[in-house]
Amino acid sequence: MIIKHLTCIECPKGCGLSVDIENCKVVKVQGQRCPKGEKYAVAEVENPVRIMTSAVLTRGLDIKMLPVRTNSPIPKSRIQEAMREIKRIRVERPVRTGEIIVKNFLGLGVDLVAARDVKKGDGSIF
Ligand code: SF4
Repeated sequence: MIIKHLTCIECPKGCGLSVDIENCKVVKVQGQRCPKGEKYAVAEVENPVRIMTSAVLTRGLDIKMLPVRTNSPIPKSRIQEAMREIKRIRVERPVRTGEIIVKNFLGLGVDLVAARDVKKGDGSIF
């Protein structure tokens, strides 16, 4: 059995959790002050996910790198693959914040979206 210590981030109280793990499964959680803590611990140990933020290269636009993020969390185990994919992307047209850069990114059912506006190199939008 492994004991892992986590901090619940579901609310500002930040309860310290002690999580007993057996065969990669949570068998016991202690330290939570509400049921969300156990749910958080199980998800964090058995299927951790993160909103991914990064930047993609642009061509002919007013900034060289466009900040991007996934619009929902993705499995932590796919982050490296996602970073490799992001290195291959080039944005060549103006986009607005929130606009989809890659739909169904890595087939995960989430989209990669622009995290800021980007204009043409001459400053015009279209
Ligand atoms: S266990 Fe409940 S009270 Fe504690 S940090 Fe998580 S959500 Fe907040």
